Amino acid sequence: MNTEAGAEEGPRPVASVIALLTWYDKARRKLPWRALPGEAADPWAVLVSEIMLQQTTVATVRSRFTPFLQRFPTPSALAAASMDEVLHAWQGLGYYRRARALKACAEAVVAIHGGVVPGDLPALLDLPGLGPYTARAVAAIAFNRMAVPVDANVARVLGRVIALELPPARAARTLQAAADTLADPIRPGDVAQALMELGALVCSPKVPSCLICPLQSDCRGFASGEPERYPGRPEVKERGARFAVMFLLEDPNGAFLFRQRPATGLLAGMIELPSTPWQAEPPDAPQVRDAAPIDAAWQEVPGEILHQFTHLDLSMRLMRARITASSPPGIWMPPEGFSTLALPTLTVRLLRHAGIWPEAGSKRSR
Ligand code: SF4
Repeated sequence: MNTEAGAEEGPRPVASVIALLTWYDKARRKLPWRALPGEAADPWAVLVSEIMLQQTTVATVRSRFTPFLQRFPTPSALAAASMDEVLHAWQGLGYYRRARALKACAEAVVAIHGGVVPGDLPALLDLPGLGPYTARAVAAIAFNRMAVPVDANVARVLGRVIALELPPARAARTLQAAADTLADPIRPGDVAQALMELGALVCSPKVPSCLICPLQSDCRGFASGEPERYPGRPEVKERGARFAVMFLLEDPNGAFLFRQRPATGLLAGMIELPSTPWQAEPPDAPQVRDAAPIDAAWQEVPGEILHQFTHLDLSMRLMRARITASSPPGIWMPPEGFSTLALPTLTVRLLRHAGIWPEAGSKRSR
């Protein structure tokens, strides 16, 4: 346990580790990637879960983690898979760049560490696809190393405890220093998970539940009477707006035309419907005609679909046509085969909008 005599033996903890761990022992959720008390964590499972949990909710990861791990139970299994297989298994988790990062990481684990996830922080930091947060999280949770990772949830908790006026992105060192004062030599993994859990369950962004919080007596944000004010907010950037028309072309066998996105950039390598470029103004009739995969009797499927990425809103219209003869080149797939394609959510939404998603209105086919 951390020393109380911080003045002589290191920085004084910003909060009580005992109170934090006592709360965690009672409040911790059972999650598929989390080892039960007394169990050893699987480093690969921890690593996969931490990458999945970046920018994706626990609820979404919860339903997708176990099938993914069953399919790729080891770094070697993932390294040996094709990128298409990995992207397909990643469906529904969004931010597909992480799937590529995870594959690159698995390949490095195989090439450099014989397929075994390394346990020390410098080796983890050297792996492609692992940033400082994920490397620290794996070191602490999977290997009980003295490291306290700071993600957005932990930054919020600690930012409130120390009443940080700056936005977290501008105070990364201050937050990491505050986190490091909580590093515990006996239960480092539990400290890391307790802080994450506190951010998720108690110290919520808008209405923190300070009255049940184990850190209340140490929290300067709570003492101020306005904990929600901390940490400071980043300047709000304006979201971009883009417009596109997508094309749904069906051949006489009931197959539909898809194409693969470029290997870099947004939704890299994913499979999508042909479309106009995504542009700042709604495409006009000549632009739509030029972008159509074939000259055909295109009919608009009524309605507009708005898809939100983190940095932009994409407004889409959908045109549909049938051909009777010569098929333009591309990926042709009937609805029963859609689940074999690495389709991003926006394409699934378009197919549902057209009423041809095989499990329309309910679950994804996996
Ligand atoms: Fe967050 Fe309130 Fe706990 Fe402070 S006391 S860490 S503001 S929940």
